[in-house]
Amino acid sequence: MKVLIALVLIAAIVGAAGSLQQTPESRPATPVERAEALLKDGKFDEAVEFLREIKAKAPVGDSFADLNLARTLLRRAQSRRQAGDDGGAYADATESMALAPTDVIVRVQTAAWWREDGETFRAMREIERVLERAPSSWEAFEELARCRQDDDDLPGALECVVSARKLNPARRTVHESWEAKLRKDIGLEESWFRVSRGSFTVKGEDKAFGGVAEAVLDLLDAAAQHCGATLGHVAGRRVVVVVYGRETFRDATGAHGWTGGLFDGRIRLPVAEFSANRDAIARTLRHEYTHLAIQDLTRRCPVWLNEGLAQILEGRQVSDSRLRVAGKPWRRVESMPASWVSIVDADEVGRLYAGAHVMTDAMVRRVGFGAVRATLVALKDGKGVATAFEKVTGIPLSEIEDSVAGER
Ligand SMILES: [Zn+2]
Repeated sequence: MKVLIALVLIAAIVGAAGSLQQTPESRPATPVERAEALLKDGKFDEAVEFLREIKAKAPVGDSFADLNLARTLLRRAQSRRQAGDDGGAYADATESMALAPTDVIVRVQTAAWWREDGETFRAMREIERVLERAPSSWEAFEELARCRQDDDDLPGALECVVSARKLNPARRTVHESWEAKLRKDIGLEESWFRVSRGSFTVKGEDKAFGGVAEAVLDLLDAAAQHCGATLGHVAGRRVVVVVYGRETFRDATGAHGWTGGLFDGRIRLPVAEFSANRDAIARTLRHEYTHLAIQDLTRRCPVWLNEGLAQILEGRQVSDSRLRVAGKPWRRVESMPASWVSIVDADEVGRLYAGAHVMTDAMVRRVGFGAVRATLVALKDGKGVATAFEKVTGIPLSEIEDSVAGER
Protein backbone atom coordinates (compact mmCIF):
# COMPACT_ATOMS: atom_id res chain seq x y z
CA MET A 1 0.00 0.00 0.00
CA LYS A 2 1.30 3.39 -0.89
CA VAL A 3 1.01 6.15 1.65
CA LEU A 4 -0.10 9.45 0.21
CA ILE A 5 2.29 12.34 0.53
CA ALA A 6 1.76 13.92 3.90
CA LEU A 7 0.97 17.59 4.14
CA VAL A 8 3.61 17.73 6.81
CA LEU A 9 4.97 21.21 6.51
CA ILE A 10 7.80 22.66 8.48
CA ALA A 11 6.70 24.98 11.24
CA ALA A 12 9.82 27.11 10.87
CA ILE A 13 9.10 27.73 7.20
CA VAL A 14 5.36 28.11 7.11
CA GLY A 15 4.85 29.47 10.59
CA ALA A 16 1.90 27.15 11.14
CA ALA A 17 1.40 23.62 9.87
CA GLY A 18 -1.15 23.09 7.15
CA SER A 19 -4.63 22.53 8.48
CA LEU A 20 -5.85 19.00 8.89
CA GLN A 21 -8.79 17.61 7.07
CA GLN A 22 -11.64 16.34 9.20
CA THR A 23 -11.94 12.59 9.00
CA PRO A 24 -15.53 11.68 8.09
CA GLU A 25 -17.08 9.29 10.63
CA SER A 26 -17.72 6.80 7.87
CA ARG A 27 -14.10 5.95 7.14
CA PRO A 28 -11.04 5.29 9.28
CA ALA A 29 -8.22 7.84 9.36
CA THR A 30 -5.56 7.30 6.74
CA PRO A 31 -2.01 6.79 8.03
CA VAL A 32 -1.15 10.31 6.92
CA GLU A 33 -4.07 11.77 8.83
CA ARG A 34 -3.10 9.79 11.89
CA ALA A 35 0.49 11.00 11.68
CA GLU A 36 -0.62 14.57 11.23
CA ALA A 37 -2.93 14.32 14.23
CA LEU A 38 -0.03 13.05 16.36
CA LEU A 39 2.19 15.89 15.14
CA LYS A 40 -0.51 18.44 15.82
CA ASP A 41 -0.70 17.18 19.41
CA GLY A 42 3.08 17.50 19.71
CA LYS A 43 3.46 13.69 19.98
CA PHE A 44 6.59 13.63 17.85
CA ASP A 45 8.03 10.36 19.18
CA GLU A 46 4.76 8.53 18.56
CA ALA A 47 4.47 9.99 15.05
CA VAL A 48 8.03 8.92 14.21
CA GLU A 49 7.49 5.40 15.56
CA PHE A 50 4.15 5.10 13.73
CA LEU A 51 5.72 6.11 10.42
CA ARG A 52 8.69 3.81 11.02
CA GLU A 53 6.17 0.93 11.27
CA ILE A 54 4.46 2.05 8.06
CA LYS A 55 7.82 2.25 6.34
CA ALA A 56 8.79 -1.23 7.58
CA LYS A 57 5.62 -2.66 6.01
CA ALA A 58 5.99 -0.70 2.76
CA PRO A 59 7.82 -2.16 -0.23
CA VAL A 60 11.55 -1.37 -0.31
CA GLY A 61 12.17 2.01 -1.94
CA ASP A 62 8.62 3.30 -1.35
CA SER A 63 9.45 6.96 -1.74
CA PHE A 64 6.26 8.12 -0.03
CA ALA A 65 6.98 6.10 3.12
CA ASP A 66 10.54 7.49 3.14
CA LEU A 67 9.36 11.04 2.54
CA ASN A 68 6.73 10.96 5.27
CA LEU A 69 9.20 9.62 7.80
CA ALA A 70 11.82 12.16 6.66
CA ARG A 71 9.50 15.13 7.08
CA THR A 72 8.25 13.88 10.43
CA LEU A 73 11.82 13.44 11.67
CA LEU A 74 12.39 17.02 10.58
CA ARG A 75 9.46 18.17 12.69
CA ARG A 76 10.83 16.32 15.68
CA ALA A 77 14.28 17.77 15.04
CA GLN A 78 12.73 21.25 15.11
CA SER A 79 11.03 20.59 18.42
CA ARG A 80 14.19 19.02 19.89
CA ARG A 81 16.21 22.05 18.81
CA GLN A 82 13.74 24.38 20.49
CA ALA A 83 13.93 22.25 23.65
CA GLY A 84 17.74 22.53 23.69
CA ASP A 85 18.47 18.96 22.59
CA ASP A 86 20.80 19.87 19.71
CA GLY A 87 22.36 16.40 19.63
CA GLY A 88 18.97 14.69 19.17
CA ALA A 89 17.94 17.29 16.60
CA TYR A 90 21.13 16.70 14.64
CA ALA A 91 20.56 12.93 14.60
CA ASP A 92 16.97 13.40 13.33
CA ALA A 93 18.03 15.91 10.68
CA THR A 94 20.81 13.61 9.45
CA GLU A 95 18.44 10.64 9.17
CA SER A 96 15.87 12.82 7.45
CA MET A 97 18.41 13.98 4.87
CA ALA A 98 19.46 10.37 4.22
CA LEU A 99 15.85 9.28 3.67
CA ALA A 100 14.86 12.11 1.32
CA PRO A 101 18.01 13.77 -0.01
CA THR A 102 16.20 15.47 -2.88
CA ASP A 103 13.09 16.67 -1.06
CA VAL A 104 12.81 20.45 -1.23
CA ILE A 105 11.37 20.83 2.28
CA VAL A 106 14.06 18.64 3.84
CA ARG A 107 16.83 20.50 2.03
CA VAL A 108 15.45 23.97 2.76
CA GLN A 109 14.97 23.22 6.45
CA THR A 110 18.46 21.75 6.72
CA ALA A 111 19.89 24.85 5.05
CA ALA A 112 17.94 27.05 7.47
CA TRP A 113 19.64 25.30 10.38
CA TRP A 114 23.06 25.75 8.79
CA ARG A 115 22.31 29.46 8.50
CA GLU A 116 21.17 29.65 12.12
CA ASP A 117 24.46 28.00 13.10
CA GLY A 118 26.45 30.67 11.28
CA GLU A 119 27.13 28.72 8.07
CA THR A 120 25.36 31.19 5.80
CA PHE A 121 27.57 30.55 2.77
CA ARG A 122 26.95 26.80 2.94
CA ALA A 123 23.19 27.39 3.35
CA MET A 124 23.12 29.82 0.43
CA ARG A 125 24.89 27.39 -1.92
CA GLU A 126 22.46 24.63 -0.95
CA ILE A 127 19.39 26.82 -1.57
CA GLU A 128 20.74 27.93 -4.93
CA ARG A 129 21.08 24.26 -5.88
CA VAL A 130 17.52 23.58 -4.65
CA LEU A 131 16.21 26.41 -6.83
CA GLU A 132 17.93 24.97 -9.90
CA ARG A 133 15.79 21.84 -9.51
CA ALA A 134 12.69 23.48 -8.03
CA PRO A 135 12.51 27.05 -9.36
CA SER A 136 8.98 27.57 -8.04
CA SER A 137 9.65 26.72 -4.40
CA TRP A 138 8.52 29.69 -2.33
CA GLU A 139 10.09 28.01 0.72
CA ALA A 140 13.48 28.13 -1.00
CA PHE A 141 13.02 31.79 -1.99
CA GLU A 142 12.12 32.70 1.59
CA GLU A 143 15.19 30.93 2.94
CA LEU A 144 17.41 32.53 0.29
CA ALA A 145 16.00 35.91 1.36
CA ARG A 146 17.03 35.19 4.96
CA CYS A 147 20.51 34.11 3.84
CA ARG A 148 20.94 37.27 1.76
CA GLN A 149 19.77 39.41 4.67
CA ASP A 150 22.46 37.77 6.82
CA ASP A 151 24.89 38.38 3.97
CA ASP A 152 23.98 42.09 4.11
CA ASP A 153 22.56 41.93 0.57
CA LEU A 154 19.24 43.68 1.19
CA PRO A 155 18.29 44.32 -2.48
CA GLY A 156 19.00 40.63 -3.20
CA ALA A 157 16.83 39.64 -0.25
CA LEU A 158 14.02 41.89 -1.47
CA GLU A 159 14.08 40.20 -4.89
CA CYS A 160 13.62 36.80 -3.22
CA VAL A 161 10.73 37.95 -1.03
CA VAL A 162 8.97 39.35 -4.12
CA SER A 163 9.44 35.97 -5.86
CA ALA A 164 8.10 34.11 -2.81
CA ARG A 165 5.05 36.39 -2.68
CA LYS A 166 4.23 35.72 -6.32
CA LEU A 167 4.56 31.97 -5.78
CA ASN A 168 2.49 31.75 -2.62
CA PRO A 169 -0.30 34.36 -2.38
CA ALA A 170 -1.51 32.71 0.84
CA ARG A 171 1.46 34.24 2.67
CA ARG A 172 0.92 37.69 1.25
CA THR A 173 0.65 39.45 4.64
CA VAL A 174 3.98 38.02 5.77
CA HIS A 175 5.68 38.92 2.51
CA GLU A 176 4.28 42.44 2.33
CA SER A 177 5.48 43.43 5.79
CA TRP A 178 8.85 41.76 5.10
CA GLU A 179 9.16 43.73 1.85
CA ALA A 180 8.22 46.98 3.62
CA LYS A 181 10.89 46.41 6.28
CA LEU A 182 13.54 45.66 3.64
CA ARG A 183 12.62 48.70 1.54
CA LYS A 184 12.84 50.88 4.66
CA ASP A 185 16.30 49.53 5.58
CA ILE A 186 17.52 49.87 1.98
CA GLY A 187 16.33 53.51 1.96
CA LEU A 188 17.95 54.17 5.32
CA GLU A 189 21.36 52.86 4.25
CA GLU A 190 21.26 54.33 0.73
CA SER A 191 23.49 57.24 1.71
CA TRP A 192 25.86 55.11 3.83
CA PHE A 193 29.40 54.25 2.82
CA ARG A 194 30.13 50.55 2.37
CA VAL A 195 33.40 48.81 1.67
CA SER A 196 33.71 45.04 1.28
CA ARG A 197 36.67 42.71 1.01
CA GLY A 198 36.05 38.97 0.70
CA SER A 199 33.50 38.07 3.37
CA PHE A 200 34.07 41.27 5.38
CA THR A 201 32.00 44.43 5.06
CA VAL A 202 32.54 47.75 6.82
CA LYS A 203 29.79 50.33 6.56
CA GLY A 204 28.46 53.37 8.34
CA GLU A 205 26.24 56.38 8.22
CA ASP A 206 28.86 59.07 8.73
CA LYS A 207 30.97 59.41 5.58
CA ALA A 208 33.65 61.06 7.71
CA PHE A 209 34.57 57.54 8.84
CA GLY A 210 34.61 56.08 5.32
CA GLY A 211 38.35 56.79 5.14
CA VAL A 212 39.11 54.31 7.91
CA ALA A 213 37.20 51.44 6.27
CA GLU A 214 40.29 49.87 4.66
CA ALA A 215 42.21 50.08 7.94
CA VAL A 216 39.28 48.50 9.81
CA LEU A 217 39.19 45.70 7.20
CA ASP A 218 42.91 45.03 7.83
CA LEU A 219 42.30 44.82 11.57
CA LEU A 220 39.26 42.60 11.05
CA ASP A 221 41.30 40.26 8.87
CA ALA A 222 43.95 40.04 11.59
CA ALA A 223 41.27 39.43 14.23
CA ALA A 224 39.81 36.53 12.20
CA GLN A 225 43.24 34.97 11.71
CA HIS A 226 44.03 35.31 15.41
CA CYS A 227 40.72 33.63 16.32
CA GLY A 228 41.43 30.82 13.84
CA ALA A 229 44.91 30.28 15.29
CA THR A 230 43.73 30.18 18.92
CA LEU A 231 40.09 29.17 19.24
CA GLY A 232 40.25 27.26 15.94
CA HIS A 233 37.22 28.82 14.31
CA VAL A 234 36.77 31.26 11.44
CA ALA A 235 33.30 32.50 10.50
CA GLY A 236 31.58 30.82 7.54
CA ARG A 237 29.45 33.86 6.84
CA ARG A 238 29.72 37.57 6.13
CA VAL A 239 31.10 39.62 9.00
CA VAL A 240 29.63 43.11 9.06
CA VAL A 241 31.16 45.96 11.03
CA VAL A 242 29.04 49.09 11.45
CA VAL A 243 31.17 52.07 12.48
CA TYR A 244 29.99 55.06 14.51
CA GLY A 245 31.33 58.16 16.18
CA ARG A 246 31.39 57.80 19.98
CA GLU A 247 28.19 59.82 20.53
CA THR A 248 26.19 58.21 17.73
CA PHE A 249 27.38 54.81 18.98
CA ARG A 250 25.82 55.50 22.37
CA ASP A 251 22.62 56.82 20.77
CA ALA A 252 22.34 53.99 18.27
CA THR A 253 23.17 51.09 20.59
CA GLY A 254 22.10 52.41 24.00
CA ALA A 255 25.41 50.98 25.22
CA HIS A 256 26.83 51.98 28.57
CA GLY A 257 29.97 54.03 28.93
CA TRP A 258 32.03 50.93 29.70
CA THR A 259 31.37 49.31 26.34
CA GLY A 260 34.18 49.46 23.77
CA GLY A 261 32.17 47.77 21.05
CA LEU A 262 29.17 45.55 20.70
CA PHE A 263 28.19 42.34 18.94
CA ASP A 264 24.54 41.65 18.13
CA GLY A 265 25.01 39.72 14.91
CA ARG A 266 26.83 42.76 13.51
CA ILE A 267 29.95 44.16 15.14
CA ARG A 268 29.18 47.75 16.18
CA LEU A 269 32.27 49.81 16.66
CA PRO A 270 32.97 53.40 17.71
CA VAL A 271 35.93 54.66 15.63
CA ALA A 272 36.35 58.31 16.57
CA GLU A 273 40.00 59.49 16.32
CA PHE A 274 40.97 56.27 14.60
CA SER A 275 44.72 56.79 14.36
CA ALA A 276 45.07 57.73 18.04
CA ASN A 277 42.93 54.72 19.05
CA ARG A 278 44.15 52.16 16.53
CA ASP A 279 45.41 49.67 19.14
CA ALA A 280 42.22 49.93 21.20
CA ILE A 281 40.12 49.41 18.05
CA ALA A 282 42.23 46.37 17.10
CA ARG A 283 41.64 44.91 20.58
CA THR A 284 37.91 45.63 20.35
CA LEU A 285 37.70 43.87 16.98
CA ARG A 286 39.53 40.81 18.33
CA HIS A 287 37.15 40.85 21.32
CA GLU A 288 33.93 41.16 19.29
CA TYR A 289 35.09 38.69 16.64
CA THR A 290 35.52 36.13 19.45
CA HIS A 291 31.86 36.60 20.42
CA LEU A 292 30.91 36.03 16.79
CA ALA A 293 32.98 32.83 16.59
CA ILE A 294 31.53 31.53 19.87
CA GLN A 295 28.01 32.21 18.62
CA ASP A 296 28.77 30.03 15.60
CA LEU A 297 30.05 27.21 17.81
CA THR A 298 27.20 27.31 20.34
CA ARG A 299 24.21 29.37 21.40
CA ARG A 300 24.62 28.07 24.94
CA CYS A 301 27.89 29.62 26.08
CA PRO A 302 27.50 31.28 29.51
CA VAL A 303 28.35 34.99 29.55
CA TRP A 304 31.35 34.55 31.87
CA LEU A 305 33.05 32.06 29.52
CA ASN A 306 32.13 34.15 26.48
CA GLU A 307 33.61 37.31 28.00
CA GLY A 308 36.55 35.37 29.44
CA LEU A 309 37.56 34.07 26.01
CA ALA A 310 36.92 37.44 24.35
CA GLN A 311 39.29 39.11 26.81
CA ILE A 312 41.98 36.48 26.28
CA LEU A 313 41.82 36.79 22.48
CA GLU A 314 41.66 40.56 22.80
CA GLY A 315 45.04 40.39 24.53
CA ARG A 316 44.08 41.80 27.91
CA GLN A 317 46.67 41.14 30.63
CA VAL A 318 45.40 38.57 33.11
CA SER A 319 47.59 40.15 35.81
CA ASP A 320 45.37 43.26 35.60
CA SER A 321 42.26 41.13 36.05
CA ARG A 322 43.84 39.29 39.00
CA LEU A 323 44.55 42.63 40.69
CA ARG A 324 40.95 43.66 40.17
CA VAL A 325 39.56 40.67 42.10
CA ALA A 326 42.40 40.39 44.64
CA GLY A 327 41.52 40.59 48.33
CA LYS A 328 37.80 40.06 47.74
CA PRO A 329 35.76 36.89 48.24
CA TRP A 330 35.88 34.85 45.01
CA ARG A 331 32.61 34.99 43.11
CA ARG A 332 31.80 31.53 41.72
CA VAL A 333 31.14 31.63 38.00
CA GLU A 334 27.83 29.75 38.33
CA SER A 335 26.58 32.59 40.57
CA MET A 336 27.31 35.23 37.91
CA PRO A 337 24.23 36.78 36.21
CA ALA A 338 22.98 35.22 32.98
CA SER A 339 23.15 38.61 31.27
CA TRP A 340 25.41 41.56 32.06
CA VAL A 341 24.07 44.19 29.66
CA SER A 342 21.60 45.74 32.07
CA ILE A 343 24.15 46.24 34.88
CA VAL A 344 24.94 49.95 35.11
CA ASP A 345 27.41 49.83 38.02
CA ALA A 346 30.74 49.98 36.14
CA ASP A 347 32.64 48.65 39.18
CA GLU A 348 30.46 45.58 39.45
CA VAL A 349 30.76 44.94 35.71
CA GLY A 350 34.52 45.37 35.94
CA ARG A 351 34.75 42.74 38.70
CA LEU A 352 32.59 40.31 36.70
CA TYR A 353 34.80 40.73 33.62
CA ALA A 354 37.94 40.32 35.72
CA GLY A 355 36.67 37.18 37.50
CA ALA A 356 35.55 35.68 34.19
CA HIS A 357 38.95 36.46 32.66
CA VAL A 358 40.94 34.91 35.54
CA MET A 359 38.80 31.76 35.52
CA THR A 360 38.86 31.29 31.73
CA ASP A 361 42.59 31.95 31.63
CA ALA A 362 43.12 29.17 34.20
CA MET A 363 41.04 26.79 32.05
CA VAL A 364 42.99 27.59 28.89
CA ARG A 365 46.32 27.23 30.71
CA ARG A 366 45.31 23.86 32.12
CA VAL A 367 43.70 22.20 29.07
CA GLY A 368 44.51 24.39 26.05
CA PHE A 369 42.31 26.17 23.52
CA GLY A 370 41.42 22.94 21.71
CA ALA A 371 39.72 21.44 24.76
CA VAL A 372 37.94 24.72 25.54
CA ARG A 373 36.66 24.80 21.97
CA ALA A 374 35.53 21.17 22.31
CA THR A 375 33.74 22.17 25.52
CA LEU A 376 31.83 24.89 23.62
CA VAL A 377 30.77 22.34 21.01
CA ALA A 378 29.79 19.84 23.75
CA LEU A 379 27.40 22.45 25.21
CA LYS A 380 24.96 21.25 22.53
CA ASP A 381 23.87 18.49 24.91
CA GLY A 382 22.23 21.24 26.97
CA LYS A 383 23.72 19.98 30.24
CA GLY A 384 25.72 23.07 31.12
CA VAL A 385 29.35 24.05 31.03
CA ALA A 386 30.55 22.08 34.09
CA THR A 387 29.27 18.82 32.59
CA ALA A 388 30.59 19.64 29.10
CA PHE A 389 34.03 20.58 30.42
CA GLU A 390 34.40 17.45 32.54
CA LYS A 391 33.15 15.26 29.70
CA VAL A 392 35.79 16.70 27.35
CA THR A 393 38.74 16.97 29.74
CA GLY A 394 38.01 14.54 32.57
CA ILE A 395 38.73 17.41 34.97
CA PRO A 396 35.96 18.83 37.19
CA LEU A 397 35.51 22.53 36.45
CA SER A 398 35.18 23.14 40.20
CA GLU A 399 38.73 21.80 40.68
CA ILE A 400 40.06 24.57 38.43
CA GLU A 401 37.88 27.17 40.11
CA ASP A 402 38.97 26.04 43.60
CA SER A 403 42.61 26.44 42.64
CA VAL A 404 41.94 29.87 41.13
CA ALA A 405 40.02 30.97 44.24
CA GLY A 406 42.81 29.67 46.52
CA GLU A 407 45.68 31.24 44.55
CA ARG A 408 44.58 34.81 44.91
ZN1 LIG B 1 32.41 41.15 25.30
